[in-house]
Amino acid sequence: MRELRTQVGIVGAGPAGLTLARLLERAGIESVVLENRDRDYVEHRIRAGVLEQRTVELLTEAGVAGRLHDEGIVHHGIELQFDGERHRIPLSELADGRTIVIYGQTEVVKDLIAARIESELPLLFEVGDVSVHEIDTEQPKIRFSHDGERLELECDVIAGCDGFHGVCRPSIPEGVLDSFSRDYPFGWLGILADVPPSNDELVYAHNEDGFALLSLRSPTLSRLYIQCEPDEDVDRWSDEQIWAALQKRLGVEGWTLHEGPILEKGVTGMRSFVVEPMQHGRLFLAGDAAHIVPPTGAKGLNLAMADVRVLAEALVHWYEAGEARLLELYSDTCLRRVWRAEHFSWWMTSMLHRIPGGDAFDLKLQLSQLRYVATSRDAAASLAENYVGLELE
Ligand SMILES: Cc1cc2nc3c(=O)[nH]c(=O)nc-3n(C[C@H](O)[C@H](O)[C@H](O)COP(=O)(O)OP(=O)(O)OC[C@H]3O[C@@H](n4cnc5c(N)ncnc54)[C@H](O)[C@@H]3O)c2cc1C
Repeated sequence: MRELRTQVGIVGAGPAGLTLARLLERAGIESVVLENRDRDYVEHRIRAGVLEQRTVELLTEAGVAGRLHDEGIVHHGIELQFDGERHRIPLSELADGRTIVIYGQTEVVKDLIAARIESELPLLFEVGDVSVHEIDTEQPKIRFSHDGERLELECDVIAGCDGFHGVCRPSIPEGVLDSFSRDYPFGWLGILADVPPSNDELVYAHNEDGFALLSLRSPTLSRLYIQCEPDEDVDRWSDEQIWAALQKRLGVEGWTLHEGPILEKGVTGMRSFVVEPMQHGRLFLAGDAAHIVPPTGAKGLNLAMADVRVLAEALVHWYEAGEARLLELYSDTCLRRVWRAEHFSWWMTSMLHRIPGGDAFDLKLQLSQLRYVATSRDAAASLAENYVGLELE
């Protein structure tokens, strides 16, 4: 087995791993990024698209936000729809002028990969049989295959940025982590459609048939979702049926939902999940490797970015000042934000989805909560400050 060495070994080239690598590069810290998929797959995996202002600021500081500033669409509000009416939540007015930016996760990932390649720093795609070892020691190791060769990468620290199904979290010895989770009895059927968005802002719609969301990825691409069964077979849905469901759930008088060719469709399960702590020995978990939120609050990508900002700062402090205090605080610092986002995502999900097996009492409570948010400035402000992202560190 050929032996290699770096300062920080990063498993996973999603938003968390790539952003961490970039922040470390700017601080003069070496890293190697290992990704088991190919570049094309990673760059075209359709996922999140709502960036908090802090995420935009982080990518700007990291010097990878040129295209984001040119092409990202700044939004100052969202709309809640229930009982056939829309109610605008003016996010910026309620949350100290802060905004959100619509820019696809695919584009964030493309920008980060391009920057890494331009810097000629190690980013290995299509690695196989990745495993982490000796995480309780000062020289943890990552073993993997690449180009038909078996390699061992010795590191000072390993960052597990390999998502929910990765290998890092399961490598932590049994009994160390506590996990907390909730599965929801529904999922989202999402489409990407080649049609300009029919509304200037996102619409979160509560409907007797189930939740629907109108979102977008660019001035010419709409992203739309409908609540479905958690294990829904997407092939059961023709394009016509999807548009009919969207028309019914999002329809309001005097407004038209424009239809167009569906470019991509898929089903996402809904889950809340957290492990504590987010670290063991020299292995630090970041992003979806440590926590999952249902997408209703648009928090998954933003939480991943917040984690690696904390981790990068702690690593820089460790290397520059020789002090481990921030690294030791990493998990606690992140978990405060994680749990706030968990609560917000659960709350939005519970308020907006049809609850399978729910009764009229559940429905009345949801509508009461929605009316409260739509009519009370304080209630709307609470939604707004969580949606645009709280300052917690
Ligand atoms: C279908 C879908 C829709 C979503 N929609 C939204 C949304 O609208 N809003 C929102 O905020 N969030 C959304 N999310 C969540 C958001 O996309 C994630 O929170 C975000 O991708 C987390 O980034 P990450 O880097 O932590 O993990 P990931 O993006 O999952 O990246 C992990 C990387 O590690 C790689 N990897 C896995 N195992 C290994 C291994 N053994 N070795 C090497 N590499 C490995 C993976 O291929 C991947 O590239 C969505 C998620 C999904 C799945």
